Amino acid sequence: MTDELKCIGCGSTIQTEDANKIGYTPQSALEKGLESGELYCQRCFRLRHYNEIQDVDLTDGDFLALLNKIGDVDALIVNVVDIFDFNGSLIPGLHRFVGDNPVLLVGNKADILPKSLKKPRLIQWMKERSHEAGLRPVDVTLTSAKRKQDISDLLELIDKYRDGRDVYIVGVTNVGKSTLINEIIRQSAGVDNVITTSQFPGTTLDLIEIPFEDGSCLIDTPGIIHRHQMAHYLGKKDLRLVSPTKEIKPKVYQLNDGQTLFLGGLARFDVIQGEKMGFIAYVSNELVLHRTKLATASEFYEKHVGGLLQPPRENEVADFPELVRFEFSVKEKTDLVFAGLGWVTIPKPCVVAGWAPKGVDVIIRKALI
Ligand code: GDP
Repeated sequence: MTDELKCIGCGSTIQTEDANKIGYTPQSALEKGLESGELYCQRCFRLRHYNEIQDVDLTDGDFLALLNKIGDVDALIVNVVDIFDFNGSLIPGLHRFVGDNPVLLVGNKADILPKSLKKPRLIQWMKERSHEAGLRPVDVTLTSAKRKQDISDLLELIDKYRDGRDVYIVGVTNVGKSTLINEIIRQSAGVDNVITTSQFPGTTLDLIEIPFEDGSCLIDTPGIIHRHQMAHYLGKKDLRLVSPTKEIKPKVYQLNDGQTLFLGGLARFDVIQGEKMGFIAYVSNELVLHRTKLATASEFYEKHVGGLLQPPRENEVADFPELVRFEFSVKEKTDLVFAGLGWVTIPKPCVVAGWAPKGVDVIIRKALI
């Protein structure tokens, strides 16, 4: 019965079913809104009252339409990625859609990589990886959405490259785009306004516009879902457990061929062939790793998943996707990456296999550290 109701903020059709989709309004708020004659969707409501940006999810069709729109405008594109899940947070084909617009690549969550990793090296690594993906950013920078200093540095860079134009912020879900934008709003709502936050005019159907003083806008686009991320297979609690919140402490395991390392019950790393060496796991400090024999690893998993090997929890095992195996012959120092969960650095040539829940990518890449 809510078909004809529109949000007076963004014009989207009000719906009460899916909190992640455009136009969502809780039933109680819908009733209140109708009473007062001021009906806002939840996203606009939060924006108005708390200066808070909320993510909405896009379908593939919406996503393509959005990307096409970005190719048609004259703007700076700021692409936020999660450096802990770099490959999982690149937007497939982004370079084809941006047209001639410059792209500023922002690696967020810089706080969780080991401090020993120097910034210039990480930036160089991001440049190389984005070039491999076809993207040629005008600049690459690092942020931690939670650090004030980073936000002002980012705003300076944005100002340098936008050249009076609008700025579109794009990113897949979970990279910290909302946190970053909320921080931008919070910090620039102060005295010397880079962004005027007293009002949010021109909130359009799926884009949120935050005006700059010169009349251009910073435009938040909805988060794009990247289905091959671990995040989509985990409950909220488990997602919190596997998403690092502070600096990762690398864990070194001396493994022989014929040994297996379980990353909770979420992933598995087998050493099939090669000399004994120190493999380094970069995962959340909370995730428990178990070493076992490769020959009996599958039985070990069957027996202990949901118990000794968690997450998933015992009551989630039935719905948890089976682990799928990917084998790699490694020639040089390489990372084997479990999308969104972390990676294992392989120092020397060997043959290994990585297992992850069906649907989650397992890839190898040039070692980051
Ligand atoms: P969005 O889907 O891209 O809008 O991502 P969110 O802003 O909702 O953030 C996703 C998760 O990453 C949340 O749990 C945030 O707390 C966390 N997060 C965001 N920025 C950072 C950051 O700079 N460092 C760390 N460690 N976590 C972050």
